[in-house]
Amino acid sequence: MSDIYKGYRGAALALLKAQGVRVWSDAEVTTTRGSFTGIILPRSETSDDKHIVLKLRNGYNVGITVDTVTAIKEIGYKEAHYKIPEKEFPYDPGKPRVKLFGTGGTIASRLDYRTGAVIPAFTPGELYGSVPELADICNLETEKLYGVFSENMGPEQWVGTATAIGREIRKGVQGIIIGHGTDTMHHTAAILSFMVQNTPVPIVMVGSQRSSDRPSSDAALNLIDAAKTAAESDIAEVMVCMFGPTSDQYDLLHRGTRVRKMHSSYRSTFRTIGDIPIAMVSREKIITLRDDYKRRRSDNDVTINTAFEEKVSIVYYYPNMKPDIIEALIDNGYRGIIIAGTGLGHVNKPLYPALRRAHDKGVAMYMTVQTLWGYVQMFVYDTGRDIMELGVFPAANMLPEVAYVKLGWALGQTNDLAKVKDIMLTPIAGEITEREPHNGYLIYQGGIPEVERFVSSFWK
Ligand code: ASP
Repeated sequence: MSDIYKGYRGAALALLKAQGVRVWSDAEVTTTRGSFTGIILPRSETSDDKHIVLKLRNGYNVGITVDTVTAIKEIGYKEAHYKIPEKEFPYDPGKPRVKLFGTGGTIASRLDYRTGAVIPAFTPGELYGSVPELADICNLETEKLYGVFSENMGPEQWVGTATAIGREIRKGVQGIIIGHGTDTMHHTAAILSFMVQNTPVPIVMVGSQRSSDRPSSDAALNLIDAAKTAAESDIAEVMVCMFGPTSDQYDLLHRGTRVRKMHSSYRSTFRTIGDIPIAMVSREKIITLRDDYKRRRSDNDVTINTAFEEKVSIVYYYPNMKPDIIEALIDNGYRGIIIAGTGLGHVNKPLYPALRRAHDKGVAMYMTVQTLWGYVQMFVYDTGRDIMELGVFPAANMLPEVAYVKLGWALGQTNDLAKVKDIMLTPIAGEITEREPHNGYLIYQGGIPEVERFVSSFWK
């Protein structure tokens, strides 16, 4: 390999050079927090320049902050193959055509099994090399749209992704997969549910919580199940396909407007909120849990509406919030505010004058609930009634993030606040539901064996 500092930039690169070590050096790294011994791994294109990554003797990778390093000593060198051998993805005329778009995140990285290094992989050949089961399911075409961690996804990327989806559907693909970082996957799933209307094919978002170099990685299973969903399911909606239970059994398909990342590290982090998931999917089968989903069609018609107003914010209320927060939004020209209120949809009295001013200035304001489950109910307490009088509309059981992207989308289309209200409060993609089923609340979300074991040890 020619580049001995593969993937390193900025401060991290300077450190390797200054210490006379390179990628694949077996090194002893002394830091202000102790010393570590392992192999210096290459970095992927989405990495920062503030860490070097070491594969420790126990197989785990650690990122070491450049600033904490006092010395690095090379004690050996173990060059490994960085490039995955590309195998040609076999074409089978009997299988559906599926398009995989990459936007970045952990799923866009893969393991070089020889070294355990995580490296970006995205060509069909590389994916086939690492997850050969994909070829049993579909003919996969891949295209990298972006290579970012998902906190860097935003309106520009949402518009780009929606446009690319429209282009592929019109060309006749039978399913779409979008590889995405998990952190903001639910924001992107929600906005795509609004920007891409009337899809004839499944649009499946997928990510992984653990990188492919960890034995517990969820990348392959999620990808296989996403491919199965895109190729074979009759659910023509924007969905998130991620681990159901904590073990490698099946994935759940969550509706794009009702899903949320709920745990920072569990693989089973995505949960349908206020409802039950659409389906369970495994290599063998897809079992639908409900009947009210949009069905696959054989035409190539789709409506893409990429309008978006960026001057929209979510205000997460906390006790003692001061009105200057709202005032600052008004003064900075914000056109829409989603409030995540307490309980049934409340904020404190000191905010009232600022909310009134926002209303007078034509700022569109909608109330959602911090509890996530349940509806805004502003008729129950005086507070709710008062806030409605100030011009804040209750947004039923729309999740705060969903309301945020929907308001951006609505304000992108019109300045007429009555029309905005009409768009906001008319359900388009399941973002508002008539009722939340009793069996939705943390049931049908995938068994949690640890909890079951714990409970049964007491419940004899
Ligand atoms: N921080 C990453 C991201 O959201 C995590 C992941 O990919 O799962 O891009």
